Formats: sequence, C-alpha cells, structure tokens
Amino acid sequence: MKTNLLDLDASALVEFFAGIGEKPYRARQVLRWVHQAGETDFSQMTDLSRRLREKLSARAVIEVPHSVSAPHGGDGTRKWLLSVGGGNAIETVFIPERTRGTLCISSQAGCALECAFCATGRQGFNRNLTTAEIVGQLWWAVRVLSSEPHKARLGEPDKARPVSNVVMMGMGEPLANFTNVVRAMHIMLDDNAYGLSRRRLTLSTAGIVPAIDRLREECPVALAVSLHAPNDALRDVLVPINRKYPLRQLLAACRRYVDASLGDEMVTSKWQRKGAPRDFVTFEYIMLDGVNDSPLHARELVALTRDVPCKFNLIPFNAFPDSGFARSPDSRIRAFQEVLANAGFVTTVRRTRGGDIDGACGQLAGRVHDRRTRRAGHSTIRVRSAEGRRL
Ligand code: SF4
Repeated sequence: MKTNLLDLDASALVEFFAGIGEKPYRARQVLRWVHQAGETDFSQMTDLSRRLREKLSARAVIEVPHSVSAPHGGDGTRKWLLSVGGGNAIETVFIPERTRGTLCISSQAGCALECAFCATGRQGFNRNLTTAEIVGQLWWAVRVLSSEPHKARLGEPDKARPVSNVVMMGMGEPLANFTNVVRAMHIMLDDNAYGLSRRRLTLSTAGIVPAIDRLREECPVALAVSLHAPNDALRDVLVPINRKYPLRQLLAACRRYVDASLGDEMVTSKWQRKGAPRDFVTFEYIMLDGVNDSPLHARELVALTRDVPCKFNLIPFNAFPDSGFARSPDSRIRAFQEVLANAGFVTTVRRTRGGDIDGACGQLAGRVHDRRTRRAGHSTIRVRSAEGRRL
C-alpha cells in the first residue's frame, strides 16, 4: 500500500525518506511542495531528481479529501462538505473578518461525547479522521481561497495567506483523536508548510483532562474549553463527559496548562521558536434560554473560575431541528456578560456567522453513518484515543 504523504509531519517524513534511502532534507522540500505549492503530482516537483520522483510515484501518494458541496453564506462565510469515504462527510467552515480569516476544522466523523445542544453530538460517532483528512481541510481551503478573486473573500487580510487562524472546533472532540490531531497541528505550525504561530492555532475541548496535560507537553497551542455550565449538576447534563472529568479536575488542568505556558520550561523549550501559546484559557459558554443563562449562573461562574487566567466567549445558541433548546434573548446575554465583566473577566459575545448555511457554532452535522447503538440517556461514557488507549 502506498503512503499518503499528507499524513506525515516533518519528523515522520524524515523517517519515510530514510526508509527509502534518501537524505533528511527531502522532507523539507516535499513539505513545501505539498502544503505551500499545493502540488499533488510528483512529476511536477521539479527540484527533485527524476529518479526520486519516480521512486515517490511508486511508493507514495498525496491524497486530499474532496469537496461534495461548498455553499456560500450571505455574510461571506464558506462551508465545505468534504467526503472522507464510507459515505461519511465532514464540514469545514471559513469565517472571513476584517483583520483575519479563520478556518474551523473537524477532527472526527461525528462525535461520541453527545453534548446536549450540539448537532454533531446528536448524530453519533463513526470514526477518527486521519492526519491527512484533518490537515487536508486546511490544504483544501487555502487552495480554493487563494484561487478566488480578492473581493470574493470579504475582509481577508492577506491574499497570500487567506487563512490566518485555525480553530479545532468543528465536528468531533479533537483530544479524543490525539495522535492524528497533534500530527496535523505540527504540520500547521511548520514553517515549511503553513507556518501558523501557536497563538493563531486554537484547540477546543469539552474537557478530557489527561489529554489536556498531554497536549501541554506535546503540542501547546491556544486552549479553549467548552464549559457551558457553572456547576457539576448542570454540566453533567449539558456536557456528559463532565461525569468522568468533573469541574474541579478540569479547572485544575486548565491552571496547569496556563502555568506551563508562563513557566521557564516553555520559554527555553524546543517550542520557543514558534512562541509560547496564550497565557489564558478561553472558556466557551453557550447561552441556552432558561437553562444556564441567569445572573445567578453568572455569579456561580465567577466564583468557579476565579483562580484560572481566562477569558469568556458567550455563544448565542444556534438552533437546529429538534434541538429542544432556545437561544437566550439578547437582554439576558447582556446581563450575563455584565456580571462577568464587573468581576473583571474579559467577556465577548460571539457574533453568529454562517447561520444561513448551517455553518454556525453547534450546527455542523456533516454526513455520518452512525455505527453506534444509541443508548437511553448517558449512563456510560468511554473515550478512547486514536491508539485505542482509554483516556
Ligand atoms: S460540542 Fe464538541 S464535544 Fe460536544 S458533542 Fe459537539 S462536537 Fe462533540
């Protein structure tokens, strides 16, 4: 079977070339061809010898997910439905703003975590995406956006770099697919590929505590945590992984994460070249009418997070069919924001983008063949990493 080179980060590529009797610098050359030039045809890689190009054609491929549909939102948002085989499709969303272009990337086909308010969670879990399928979403977006007329990409800051920020916030729980996600993020950070800084690459998790610690060690990037409730009783219902990793454990992991990014070891570590990640955690909090949005909830949140360097991002709920929830009225969101702001927390309210193409936060549904037997309730929560290790 041929190796898909899109699956390999720099160190894996060095190993691949060593295995076929080639020098390590070939990894750098091929990374540039694949990710910067967008080349998938070895015969076009003109600074490789003819002999090496033939060798690569015999042993490797460069396979990217292909687009099934690509609707444009009225506000400039783009969504790609990308086929990942087996009847599954995942969604990737591009959100252009005046000073940046953000790409929201999926990490799994479906999701096993079953957060109560999330369209992806409702459809069940099929499988982890490969590294090629994860980084392939960025590869695809950069190719499409770079080939379009400048004006079509509202406010995108730099024609040569249409995607300035990446958020791992699409379909799936990225830390439940740890190895493939981290390898994909290594490629995103690599100066021979996309050259993102650690501050412009954000991973969002529902709170798999041991994997947060592992991320801090292996690939520290900006961390966002889907909090959504100020106490365990409510979070157990809205974000069922909380039953396994309750708030006390989760917030302690957040503190460790931030402490490490401030600590000496980060400044002097091998990661320093790409800068330290952000020195705060972003807590995401979805605003559900009459569920978690009272001033009392806000005050509970203040007390809960007092010891964690953090910012809050309040997310007005985006409806999907049969969700069973409603969006909090603007007045209630403002009152909630005021309580947090008065307590000294930087608190933003996320502007809904891409709602007309079902591309807004919580609406991504893709197309997933659910192989799971749906349980009544959420009595058991088991999460495994890509390697099958229990997290
Ligand atoms: S919010 Fe995230 S972790 Fe929760 S079900 Fe949806 S995709 Fe999974």
